Amino acid sequence: MATEWKVGFIGLGIMGRSMSRHIINAGYQVTVWNRTASKMEEAAGWGARKARSPKEVAENSNLIITIVGDTPDVREVVEGENGVLAGAKPGSVLIDMSTISPDATRQIAARAAEQGVAMLDAPVSGGDIGARNGTLSIMVGGEASVLESVKPVLETMGKSIVHCGPNGAGQTVKACNQILCGLNLLGMVEALAFAKKAGVDLEKMIEVTTRGAGGSWALANLGPRVVKGDLDPGFSVRFQQKDLRIVLQEAERLELPLLGTAAVQQLLRSVQAHGGNEDGTHALIRLMEQLGNVSITPSE
Ligand code: NAP
Repeated sequence: MATEWKVGFIGLGIMGRSMSRHIINAGYQVTVWNRTASKMEEAAGWGARKARSPKEVAENSNLIITIVGDTPDVREVVEGENGVLAGAKPGSVLIDMSTISPDATRQIAARAAEQGVAMLDAPVSGGDIGARNGTLSIMVGGEASVLESVKPVLETMGKSIVHCGPNGAGQTVKACNQILCGLNLLGMVEALAFAKKAGVDLEKMIEVTTRGAGGSWALANLGPRVVKGDLDPGFSVRFQQKDLRIVLQEAERLELPLLGTAAVQQLLRSVQAHGGNEDGTHALIRLMEQLGNVSITPSE
């Protein structure tokens, strides 16, 4: 018989807020915890129970989902004094959906296994819109049989759920996704600068190249926003830099040079230095405009 999941949900930020709502709406019993307690009121209104700590979430659940910020944040809510592992019963499943280090993920999974808790790393792509619409792409590392057992819960949040391999494989695939996002972003701003300086219509250039071998998500979705001068996130420079740091740290461990990714990370550092930390990643266009002495976004 399929396990009846009592779900615990930790982290009600931009992503977690919408994701938890889908699980509640699907009829699961859900216990939530968020560091800033006021953010739990909304979920309580949707029918969730409120807990006082991640430990209490785990005591009341057999499937615990975390989606917080960075690697140390996951370590704190999982391994801390009042963390998930302080309250989790053997046989429980822990799914971390944050984007964090693959190496740390393997360590946390090993620690969880010591007390009979199976862990999946299940980072997501699709952004706040994908979270809101329940259409996230979820990449999963861990035991395939564990994934099968929790799939109905993941299906409330995502439309693509792919088993990528053992623990850490989900985070590794997410890191690959971030390499591609970074390099496609750079390609998009360079193509726009080139087109502008050469005097061709930017919208026409985007229309044509999006259909060809040079097309990318960044070009199709961020290109038109750049041309209109809309630099709101989307996905913030702050988060992209966190993800590229994870990629470059892992590349260091693998002794793998990633010249393009490192260049994008340094260019985005300059965007941060000019006050663009909370802008969308396509704010990289501002730097390109300075480098090329070319005006691409409409002037204010
Ligand atoms: P967010 O809006 O900044 O929310 C972060 C959440 O984590 C908040 O609930 C925050 O609690 C909690 N948190 C952070 N550090 C914590 C700590 N040390 N202890 C306890 N709770 C902590 O971020 P988000 O956009 O939801 O992103 C969450 C994760 O999803 C990140 O790993 C991000 O990289 C990944 N992700 C985001 C997107 C996106 O488009 N936003 C897309 C794909 C993946 P407070 O409310 O108390 O601050």
